Order: sequence, then structure tokens, then C-alpha cells
Amino acid sequence: MIDSLLDAIWPRRCAVCGRPADRPGRHVCSECLMRIPFIPAKGCCAVCGRDVEGQSEEFLCEDCIGPNAPRFDRAASAVRFEGVAREMLLGYKFNSRLYLRADFADWIEGAVRARLDTAAIDVVLPMPLTTFHRMDRGYNQSGYLADELGRRFERKVRNDVLKRVGRPSRQAELHEDERRENVKGTIAVVNAQYVCGRTVLVVDDVMTTGSTLSECAKVLKEAGAGRVWCATLARSLHT
Ligand SMILES: [Zn+2]
Ligand SMILES: [Zn+2]
Repeated sequence: MIDSLLDAIWPRRCAVCGRPADRPGRHVCSECLMRIPFIPAKGCCAVCGRDVEGQSEEFLCEDCIGPNAPRFDRAASAVRFEGVAREMLLGYKFNSRLYLRADFADWIEGAVRARLDTAAIDVVLPMPLTTFHRMDRGYNQSGYLADELGRRFERKVRNDVLKRVGRPSRQAELHEDERRENVKGTIAVVNAQYVCGRTVLVVDDVMTTGSTLSECAKVLKEAGAGRVWCATLARSLHT
């Protein structure tokens, strides 16, 4: 009702092609939706969820074997961080194009349903922003995605478990080894009683090497969490 009322006042345009949007309350038209680089649900790494072309069975990628394997148990990402999806996400993160939220929430929900047993999730945790980013943008996009997933799966979302500690880190320019070092000790768990023995879903916007999510999983497990699963809107594949 509200959607159609708003549409009558301000007609929605597709965020990709600019033509009238044809799906209720959404800002990507059905034609452009076909151009979004969704990650397939099959043929992905059993742990980090990276997909490899031509694969149809689940496998373990080289990043998920050995001493540097991520500490989370399983991750789901909706889209590859490239092309129109990348532009949309950067607009969302840095230009406050918040109207894209419903589209993004649909995508991450689809990825989680395809890869994870949603009935087994006990609690949803957003990735906390660094203080620096909070001041910079004043908006936690992971928090919004976590709230939407919590609402759609009817699970409690807790903002009072994961906390940033130590220095704010700029991960973007760092190599994989440096990123792993850089995130060590920068996330802490408070209120461990909410995660102890539970299956936890940590939500973030983009996964690159997965080192920040892995650090979250490490501290959550040290605090007694059972399984740690991760959901991100996008996956940026490093080479
Ligand atoms: Zn379009
Ligand atoms: Zn993997």
C-alpha cells in the first residue's frame, strides 16, 4: 500500500538503467536484475563460498585448507563485487543511496537461504564499524543488513556482542598476510552469554580475504560460540 502510494508520488527509476522500475518497492528492474553477478548456490567452496566456473560440486578452495584457513565454519555471499553490483554497493556505502536497501536485503537473504540452514541460526550479529567509519558515514550498512536478516528469519539481532577495539585499520591497501596481522586483536566479544553454545550468523557488506570475518569467528569461538557462519552482500575475489 505505502509502496504504491509512494510510487504514485515519486515514480521509482531503476538504479542501473534509469528506466521505470517494474518491481514493487525495488530499485533494480527485472531486466537489470539478470545482469547482477549473483554467485551460484552450487559449485562453491564449502567454507568461504567462492565459486569456480565449471564446478558443480562443493569443494574446498586452497584458502580454506591449511594453517591460514578461516576460522568461520561457512560463509554465504550474494554477488561478486564487480560490474553493476560493485557500482551499486559503492553508491550505497559512500553516497548514502539508502533506497537500495530492500534490493540488497533480498539478495543477501537469498544467498543465506541457499547455503545455510536458517532454522539453525540462533543469533545474528552485525560487523561493527570502526569508530573512524562511524564518524565518516554515520551509518552502519552491515547493521541494516543484519536487522533485515533478523527480521526475515525471525531471529534476535545483537549489536552488543562484537566490538571494535584498538586502532582503526585501513585494510584496502594491504596484502593478505598483512591483513591477517592487521586485524589481530581489533575485535572483542562482550556479553558472551548471548553466543555461548549458539550458532551465530555474522553479517558484513563485502568479504575480500575474509580476514576480518575470520578474526570475528576466532574471538566468538574463544567466547564459547558453537558454529560461526558469515553472510556478506558481496564477495571481492582477490587473486
Ligand atoms: Zn534497469
Ligand atoms: Zn574457500
